[in-house]
Amino acid sequence: MPVFDVNKVRSDFPILGTHVHGKPLIYADNAASTQKPQQVMDSISDLYSNHYANIHRGVHYLSQKSTALYEGARETVKNFIHAKKIEEIIFVRGTTEGINLIASSYLEPLLKAGDEILLSEMEHHSNIIPWQLTAERTGAILTIIPLLENGELNLSVLPTLLSSRVRLVAVTQMSNSLGTLNDISRIIELAHQQSIPVLIDGAQSIAHMAIDVQKLDCDFFVFSGHKIYGPTGIGALYAKEKHLLNMRPYQGGGDMILSVSFEKTEYNDIPYKFEAGTPNIEGAIGMATALDYVSDLTIEAIAEYEQELLAYATKIFTAIEGLHIIGTAPHKGSIISFVLDGIHPHDVGTVMDMEGVAVRTGHHCTQPVMEHYHIPATTRVSLSFYNTFEEIDDIAKAITKVKELMG
Ligand code: PLP
Repeated sequence: MPVFDVNKVRSDFPILGTHVHGKPLIYADNAASTQKPQQVMDSISDLYSNHYANIHRGVHYLSQKSTALYEGARETVKNFIHAKKIEEIIFVRGTTEGINLIASSYLEPLLKAGDEILLSEMEHHSNIIPWQLTAERTGAILTIIPLLENGELNLSVLPTLLSSRVRLVAVTQMSNSLGTLNDISRIIELAHQQSIPVLIDGAQSIAHMAIDVQKLDCDFFVFSGHKIYGPTGIGALYAKEKHLLNMRPYQGGGDMILSVSFEKTEYNDIPYKFEAGTPNIEGAIGMATALDYVSDLTIEAIAEYEQELLAYATKIFTAIEGLHIIGTAPHKGSIISFVLDGIHPHDVGTVMDMEGVAVRTGHHCTQPVMEHYHIPATTRVSLSFYNTFEEIDDIAKAITKVKELMG
């Protein structure tokens, strides 16, 4: 039994009515970015039409109104991920900027040559390169939790990898190329036994499961608004207050100060200390509307429905001869990556597009994962709560068409 009315939900997303090459659009590229409900567009339009001014510094009516909406958005993020305090929520451009901020402001001052940063083999490039840059500057090294063949992390080696030289563990909660859901509670527990802080990349997980940063006890959690039905160019970084209080600023500029002279600057309190310059006001407000939208559907109902879609798609795709799913972990989010015997994923994607199906092909910014499986690329179907079982049948038909034309 459907947990919510998918057709009603779909009507909130005008773009889903698009036709592509004369066929109704089937949007299955949600791991790259999600589509936006009318409510998000309306909230941004309402801001510009009725409440907009620059925030924090103005005594006038509109500035105060904008400030209240922006700070209200911070409260919404705090509640959505169950942080303890609004001071622990920093608005950033997205997951990428959040990770760079932690690498630069938290980790780099602590690092010395020979220290280790522990990542996993399934990380997105955004959760590799910032650490690599920091390591290059300090002489630290990256160590890696390896993948098992089914796309799970091999956590049996974790206790050995968590040596006294590790200064931070940074792992994704959900793989964007394999779909794997990692047992981050276990990773955090083991790391904390050695007093090692943990950053969770929530770019994918945020839209598919309930997040409680206090229960998880992670030190840092990052996500992007555009992956959870909100605007691009906005995201949030959660960091425990005790870390933020000791961190150096990430960027300098207006709003992050209490006083400035040419001799000395006194920084503002957290979270403002980490938000230099005029922020993405409409982005924060639009993202909060998206979080409210998801909360109204309830993330539990979304997760249940998406798991049904995943199970159905896995069954249907597995029955296609010559199709091999890459990433068969027992716990997955609604992502199916696959390769087709003898056909390059780019050709798969191009033919599927002609059938109206939007999927992503390539390495998905996870080249180490591709290297692990000795493949250049996969075709990735990533599903959302607005996808339907009928669409999965049509995606399977499009794959069969690919085989007819290219096989
Ligand atoms: N981490 C994961 C797991 C992702 O899937 C992505 C985006 O695809 C990112 C990080 C980077 O997110 P953004 O480009 O929004 O900063």
